[in-house]
Amino acid sequence: MPMLDHTHDATATSWVASANGHPDFPIQNLPLCAFSRPGEAARGGVAIGDQILDLAAPGLLPPELALAGQAPLNDFFALGAAPRRALRHLVFDLLRTGSTPRPSLLVPQAEAVLHLPMRVTDFSDFYAGIHHATTTGKMLRPDLPLSVNYKHLPIAYTGRTSSVRPSGTPVHRPNGQRKPAKEAVPSFGRSRNMDFELEMGIWVGQGSALGAGVSIAEAADHIGGYCLLNDWSARDIQGWETVPLGPFLGKSFLTTISVYVVTPEALAPFRVPLTTRPADDPAVLDYLLDARDQSEGALDLVLEAWIQTPSLPAPHLLCRSNSQALYWTPAQLLTQQASNGCDLNAGDLLGSGTLSGPTLDSAGSMLELSQGGRVPLVLPSGETRRFLEDGDTLELRAYGVRDGFAQIGFGPCVGTVTG
Ligand code: CA
Repeated sequence: MPMLDHTHDATATSWVASANGHPDFPIQNLPLCAFSRPGEAARGGVAIGDQILDLAAPGLLPPELALAGQAPLNDFFALGAAPRRALRHLVFDLLRTGSTPRPSLLVPQAEAVLHLPMRVTDFSDFYAGIHHATTTGKMLRPDLPLSVNYKHLPIAYTGRTSSVRPSGTPVHRPNGQRKPAKEAVPSFGRSRNMDFELEMGIWVGQGSALGAGVSIAEAADHIGGYCLLNDWSARDIQGWETVPLGPFLGKSFLTTISVYVVTPEALAPFRVPLTTRPADDPAVLDYLLDARDQSEGALDLVLEAWIQTPSLPAPHLLCRSNSQALYWTPAQLLTQQASNGCDLNAGDLLGSGTLSGPTLDSAGSMLELSQGGRVPLVLPSGETRRFLEDGDTLELRAYGVRDGFAQIGFGPCVGTVTG
């Protein structure tokens, strides 16, 4: 579990001027990324203000950290927490005010192509947002919104890795088979009910061997970092195909993630107790229970979704939620993933599930915001939306705010529906 140290000092500043007061990437964050200038090979970097520190610059990193300069970053993250922490300390010393400025090591983010930071080796999407599960469950099963297993184990399905893409990738409206209740027979065609899901992604760093599992006490050490994740969802395709085996083509046409890996070290100031489980909920089985994880294993991060339509003068806030909507800690999700003995690898991606809050203005999907598609949203332009239309841009944001600490953020997770 990461500890607070001098890299979290709110008064620390950088000789990279744009970093100071930057809402996402001040010197207290230092997220990793894979980037290139157009036409160049991808390499590892660290976001600082509106710049990227080029970790592949000759002689910058000692041999034991050199893998951080190689993109994708799977091999570096596979080394685990200690080299990641050492890199953070090295980069912090290099960039802090008082060090010799080395602007030749910087590439402006505006001139860079940002790639997937790691090759996605596996992708599971959990369903651990308790408010989303409750609200959508009520739409389908008013008498029993949460399935009987929900409070006993973190529920997930295996997603598709081939269509995980970095922020900015255009969002094609998928074809699929759908059968609305009012239509007698199914038809094949473009989805009519395009939706987003506001999620966090958890990157596995250090892996585990086949058959070994990961104990809950050790699980936090296997988390390499975090990103935003938009589980684009074609609700009409999903609704027809899901019973009885679960999500498939209504989900797997595209998943967009933010491109910066925000490390557990950077998020140390925003750790909080897990509070979503009332005392009268079922007891957690021992393999998912660790006292330290329960007391500081949850995260307090603000999450937002913004929409921009061709007619809106500026992006419009659709919802503001919080990562404390998670019913389980990230460590519990990771331990559950490995609990049957499947091996984990650096680059495995775990989606949290939609992190809606308990109220309508904190709902992290159009399905919830339009109350099952029945009550269209009215935007400031006068336009209405049940689901997303072609030309709409959806952006997810996440940031941590706590008295006495610098605000840090995840960078954008954006996609425009192209039709
Ligand atoms: Ca999802």
